[in-house]
Amino acid sequence: MYFCLIKGTVDILANPIEYLKGVGPQRADLLKKELNIYTFKDMLELVPYRHIDKTRVNQVRDITPQTDFIQIKGVIRSFGIVGEKRAKRLVAEIFDGTGTLELIWFQGITYIQKSLALGQAFLVYGKVSFFQGKPQITHPEMETYSREKMEGKSTLEPVYPSTEKLKARGMGGRQLGVFTETLVKMLQENNIPEILPDSILQHLQLMPRYKAFTSMHFPPDPQTWEKAIDRLKFEEFFIAQLRMGLLRQQRHRYSRGVVFSQVGEIFNTFYEKHLPFQLTGAQKRVIKEIRRDTGSGKQMNRLLQGDVGSGKTIVALLVLLLAIDNGYQGCLLAPTEILTQQHYNNISGLLKELPVKVRILTGSTKTKERKEILQQLEDGTIHFVVGTHALLEDSVKFKNLGLAIVDEQHRFGVAQRAKLWQKAVVPPHVLVMTATPIPRTLAMTAYGDLDTSIIDELPPNRKPILTVHRNDDKRSEVMSFIKAEIVKGRQAYIIFPLIEESEKLDYENLMKGYENVQAYFPEPKYWISMVHGRQTADVRTTNMQRFKANDTQIMVGTTVIEVGVDVPNASVMVIENAEKFGLSQLHQLRGRVGRGAEKSFCILLSGSKLNNDARERLKIMCATNDGFKIAEKDLELRGPGDIEGTRQSGALNFKLASIVQDKKWLEIAREMAERLLDEDPDLTSANNLQLKNHLQSLTGKTAWSKIS
Ligand code: ADP
Ligand code: MG
Repeated sequence: MYFCLIKGTVDILANPIEYLKGVGPQRADLLKKELNIYTFKDMLELVPYRHIDKTRVNQVRDITPQTDFIQIKGVIRSFGIVGEKRAKRLVAEIFDGTGTLELIWFQGITYIQKSLALGQAFLVYGKVSFFQGKPQITHPEMETYSREKMEGKSTLEPVYPSTEKLKARGMGGRQLGVFTETLVKMLQENNIPEILPDSILQHLQLMPRYKAFTSMHFPPDPQTWEKAIDRLKFEEFFIAQLRMGLLRQQRHRYSRGVVFSQVGEIFNTFYEKHLPFQLTGAQKRVIKEIRRDTGSGKQMNRLLQGDVGSGKTIVALLVLLLAIDNGYQGCLLAPTEILTQQHYNNISGLLKELPVKVRILTGSTKTKERKEILQQLEDGTIHFVVGTHALLEDSVKFKNLGLAIVDEQHRFGVAQRAKLWQKAVVPPHVLVMTATPIPRTLAMTAYGDLDTSIIDELPPNRKPILTVHRNDDKRSEVMSFIKAEIVKGRQAYIIFPLIEESEKLDYENLMKGYENVQAYFPEPKYWISMVHGRQTADVRTTNMQRFKANDTQIMVGTTVIEVGVDVPNASVMVIENAEKFGLSQLHQLRGRVGRGAEKSFCILLSGSKLNNDARERLKIMCATNDGFKIAEKDLELRGPGDIEGTRQSGALNFKLASIVQDKKWLEIAREMAERLLDEDPDLTSANNLQLKNHLQSLTGKTAWSKIS
């Protein structure tokens, strides 16, 4: 019986859209192409972007230059086509008893002209603009007006997102409402059954599902609309969180992982004899979390977040030693050649007295050497390899890879990570380390299937970096400042934007900048390194190394040095055209200084004309060093779609809810989903049956079978 109910629901809403009254095959084609509406369900889920209050009619005499959208009820006084060729347009005058408003059309002229008649009453809606002192509306939405027609209708009329092509075929933003109205009238409560458990509905005082969908389209009043939207936003987040939670749970329960059962000799020797400093409390805690995971027999998939300079590398190294102690190989993937080289030097230096064989593999590894490395990875001679994405190639095979660490994650796509899994029979443990913190809401959505560890503490004795913003015309003062720091024995970075390494203009800018810096800092008194993406890896590495060894005092470069580079003696970071950089990039760049015990400085140079967003970014940079705060702000300013690495994730494709504006609901949904899964991990309780059915319809039966 119950099953039939569900079945019935699926049937109506699964109907192809051409079968909705008034649609037909041709319009259906357009709806599919333009709005991705294939079924009744898709139409039901089309979200109106606003409602027009039909009872609120404006008067022409009240129009001012500040007036935005208005609705006028009046009669047509005159209309006709004026102008020729491109300037050809249909102009009509509508009079509402208080004044006259001009209506203009440039497209669909003939069609619209036919629908007009002198003296006919219309309800006109649109955005007012002024032309030669007279108010007008271009391409207004028109509806013939009659009192009978208005009666019995919801006074709030939905307006949907539409497109030019749809409008030209009579399916403008308001006209689509005819379809949703037809649809909503057909549907009854059992067509949109409740899926949320009663307890949640009651606890959060949520509107029932049927009412929410119908009120989203045709709300009796604004309050009801708001409650409907809240309910639907919650549902969206809740379902997504539940699915993530189920994935995590499934992995914890069913995935098989290699077991690092013991802390062995290599780990212990390193920890006691070679660790260059005391670990911070946060580093220790994270290592414990990872140890627990890797000893559990389940595969670890963990996201390690920490601010720039919080010491993620040493955590990675210790975990790698753990793998080696247990007889497994490890790999560390880094996003750039420079960073890979740095990790390699660093790590092989720290491990030089230990029986661990470490190698480096990048795109520029010579063929002969590469052959040898591949051979030794396969026969197990090499314990541990550091590399760029060259490691992901199919030719790279391991004897028994037990752990893969991905550093500075945001440059690696999800698909690339998946490649790692295929490198061993039992998938290796995966630890993903972020370059800068990720906003909490993003961590919960885009990375919600991973477990998370956070290093929320910086190593001791770090002095905060002083950040200032200066106009371009202060450049010579900035150069004098750098000189003074160099006299004190310090070093400086000067970074130029080079968003696309191939962009000619940016490249020329960099070269000009370099010459400019050379003029201030002539050889042989000063030496300058330069790195950019057009150099060969060898040249880049040499330049980097010279800077690291303090053979050069200034590093001129592009963002290729952005990530991870560690030269503790550098105390000044100058960023040219700072307005061109995103917040997380600026923060990442700034993180290159402040690594030694010296006071460090970050100087953001920009032109004097800045747009609001750029100004806001620079202001935030000057106000805080806290990467977690900056990440939140970044998300707010850019929106989730633009955050690197998340675009393709699909986890952020919410129809209604926004992880920026609806944070509150996301938090609640997360909490509710977790609580529900704690209480009823397999959703076997009768209260959760509808929910389970719903999830099943989304997930498809195969994936689900593992869980139920
Ligand atoms: P990130 O988290 O940005 O990758 P790194 O791992 O590069 O940071 O560490 C930044 C610097 O801090 C390095 O020079 C590292 O040696 C140092 N460091 C890391 N942990 C500690 C610690 N517990 N005490 C002192 N210095 C540390
Ligand atoms: Mg790092």
